[in-house]
Formats: sequence, C-alpha cells, structure tokens
Amino acid sequence: MSSWIDLSANELLSQLEAGQVTSQEVVTAFLDRIHQVDPKVHAFLNLFAEEALQKASVVDERRKNGEKVGLLGGLPVAVKDVLCMKIGATTAGSKMLERFHSPYNATVIEKLEQADGIILGKTNMDEFAMGSSTENSAYNGTANPWDLERVPGGSSGGAAACVASQMAPLSLGTDTGGSIRQPAAFCGITGVKPTYGRVSRFGMIAFASSLDQIGPMTNSVEDAALLLEVIAGHDPSDATSLDRPVPNYREALKEPLKSFKLGLPKEIADFNPDPEIQKAVEAALEVYRETGATIEEISLPNLKYAVPTYYVIAPSEASSNLARYDSVHYGYRTDRKAMMAGLEEGDSPLVQMYSQSRAEGFGPEVKRRIMLGTFALSKGYYDAYYLKALKVRRLIRQDFDRAFEQVDAIIGPCTPKPAFKIGEKVSDPISMYLEDLFTVGANLSGNAAMSIPCGFTSENLPIGLQLQVPALEEERLFRIGHLYQQVTDWHQRRPSLG
Ligand code: GLN
Repeated sequence: MSSWIDLSANELLSQLEAGQVTSQEVVTAFLDRIHQVDPKVHAFLNLFAEEALQKASVVDERRKNGEKVGLLGGLPVAVKDVLCMKIGATTAGSKMLERFHSPYNATVIEKLEQADGIILGKTNMDEFAMGSSTENSAYNGTANPWDLERVPGGSSGGAAACVASQMAPLSLGTDTGGSIRQPAAFCGITGVKPTYGRVSRFGMIAFASSLDQIGPMTNSVEDAALLLEVIAGHDPSDATSLDRPVPNYREALKEPLKSFKLGLPKEIADFNPDPEIQKAVEAALEVYRETGATIEEISLPNLKYAVPTYYVIAPSEASSNLARYDSVHYGYRTDRKAMMAGLEEGDSPLVQMYSQSRAEGFGPEVKRRIMLGTFALSKGYYDAYYLKALKVRRLIRQDFDRAFEQVDAIIGPCTPKPAFKIGEKVSDPISMYLEDLFTVGANLSGNAAMSIPCGFTSENLPIGLQLQVPALEEERLFRIGHLYQQVTDWHQRRPSLG
C-alpha cells in the first residue's frame, strides 16, 4: 500500500469495512498530508484535528464491536466555511464573521455526522461565496495545486484544492453560479451542483437564496454519488428543500445507460473557449460516441443573457440576505471610541455605527454586489432590472426544458479558460464574472450539473467537462459521468506537490 491518501473515498470505505485500516489511521494520514502540503496550498481556514481523531476512535470502536456504522463509515470530509458548525468559527471567508460561532450545526453537517463522516476542518472561500478565484477571501488566497501561481477557482476554492492535493477524500462546496463546478474544473476534480432543493441549506450562510445549492466535491463520480446520498433529502427547516425520496445513487451506477443522447449547445462556440479546452471536449465527445451515445447539436438561444441575468438576480438577493450583518445581530463591530470621536455635528451615532461596521467588515467585491443589488431593487429601477431579469430567467429555463425534450443531457466545457494567474483578474470584475458563462444556466434553471476532468492543457492545467441534466435526474448525471470515468483516467491524475 503506497498510502491511504491515494485511494478514492469508495476504495477507502471498502478497506475500512474489511478491517484493513482504521478510521484513526485514515484520519491521521490525511492530517499528516495537510501538515505537509497545506502551508503551500492554504486550503484550510480551520482544522479540527483533535475532534476528528476522537470521533474516528469512536467509529473504530463501534465497528470493532460489530455495531452499526453510518454510510461514511469513518471517512474524513472537509467542509466549506460557509456551513455553520458548532465548533470553531464560521466565517464565510469574511472579516464580518471573524468571530461568529454558530449555536447550531447546518443540516448537512448533522447528516455528515450521523453518517459517521469525520469533519477535518473548514475550507477557504471567496467572501460570502462571491467570486471565482478565492482571492476575495478575507483570509489569504488559496493556490491551485497544479500550479501554485494560479487560482484554484472559486468560490469553493479551498474545497477543490484540498481534494485535488489529497488533503481530504471528500469535501462539500456550495454553488450559486458555478462555485462547485468551476473550481472542480480548475483543480481537476469532480464537482456536482445538485438540483435546486435537493440538499437542505439550513445552516448555510445565504448568498442568493433562489440559486444556492450545497454539493459534493470529490475524486470521482462514484465518490460524489456516495456523498450526495448522505446529504440529500427533505428538511422541514428549509422550506425550499424537496420532499422526494433520496435514491441509492451508487446502486444506480451499476446499471449503465444503454443508449443516450447528448446535446452540444451550438452557442458555446460564440464565446470562443480556449482551443485546448475545445479539443479536450471534442475528444470527450468521441469517447462518448464510442460508448454508444449519440451527440446532437442543440440550441440555448438565451445563453448570452445568462451572465447579465445572474448578475442582477444574485446581487439583488445578496443585498437582502446581507442586510442582517448590521454589527448588532451579527458580525464585526467598529471600535466604539474611535467612531464616537469621529462623529460630526448632526451625525447619528447609531447610523454611523452601522455604516462604519459594514464598511470595515465587508470586502470590496461584497460591497460592489450590495450596491448593485440595492440599486436593482430600488423603487423606479425594480421593473427595469430585477423584474426583467426574472423574465429572462424564465426564458433561459425554457431553453433548457426544450433542449431536454431532445436530449438526455447537455455536454460542453465547464469554463471558457483554464485556471488563471493569481492577481490576473482582481481589478477586472467583468472578466471575473465572465468565468461563469457556462455554469450559471444550471442555477438559473434549477437543474443538476457536474464538472468532471477531461484532460490537461499544454501547461498541465486541468480541463473540466460539464454535464447538465433536468431537475432531479442526478442518477442519470452520475451514470453518464461514471461511464466516462470508467474508460478514461483523467480523474486519477494528481498534481505533484512533493
Ligand atoms: N462566480 C460566481 C459569483 O461570483 C458564482 C459564485 C457562487 O457560485 N457562489 O457570483
């Protein structure tokens, strides 16, 4: 055995079940790896080493005594720091929540624990999940394990980087406009945005409530199927969660699809994806053809409006969700003495405290979104921006519905370009927003989507292939993705980090 960290989550689980290794040994192997490579990658904001080892010993004991062990059976998991946990701070990558200690666990955290997952720590992210590079974190950026001078993508950059660099076999991210899939593509891992409502968001710090979803970030489709099975399901605490039974996703993988149709949107070419990405996607289409799939051209005529629509709706919802960080109910508060000393005649100390606290607690991108959203929702502009965006959102959704009458899944590149250099886009928000070209459609329509590795550029940067299916068709998504991973090995490549 070279090392436990080289195994996929499902492989590790079999070894655990067969008594070949203990959960404590597995957790120790990943903690050692974290100590070895995280100083270079900076994926974690917080580690719960002691608690993890303690919990692992309890699982080991139960297994030894022949007691029932949960679905995750003592496997380590990392979670994005946007998910509330009773232990440690939950910061959402923001200075605003630097000292926020949640009094309760998010539903997904409870589910991980009930399934005997061992939570290793919290991963870095763009502040309040706004961004595509993790550079908007108030706590230093995270590096791409394939090239430490590049970004890991975002906003779930820490979650993607920690799986790619073998610091955790499983992790949870969130996806509002691409934040699971785009970092998964940049880091060469599998990332799944489940159907809107498939996973409870209770205890997830909200960004844009009509778009947010929590999902798995893993080494393979099979591992994602395992993790989704654990976290999916109805939750009375989240009114948007769907009251539908959770399929046994891993079982579904055993029944491969015989013949299926994949749709390639013709509009993708209008956005000039990187030629190496186009080549990799074409090669993936060939792989699918060889396995018996047919590829058809489809049309998503409103794709070109997806980014502008998203960037009206998401900031509007964010401006409303972020109103709660007023330094009274939650969050960072400005220094009272200095604030009082700075008051001018006629200033209200209360208003000054609110505004100064928010000015100091939020980073520039979050402020930009709050301003954009507040503007789009304001009297006189609401109809022209927010309402209009909702109408276009319906058209985009109809495009997808029509496409899915024709094909079983939509296929294409996940991102227009591979991972970019740290600092390259920080002063150019529009080019950062354009990162989301191919991913926001699934959020606006509520459908399920996934990115899987499908090759590398000449600079050895991973390329992501996106698959999209109708709402609640995750079984189909996993089958199609798994089929590809059975005949290719892109998902097994690892960066060399020493
Ligand atoms: N990059 C997108 C944004 O900045 C998506 C973020 C997300 O999915 N959380 O809004």
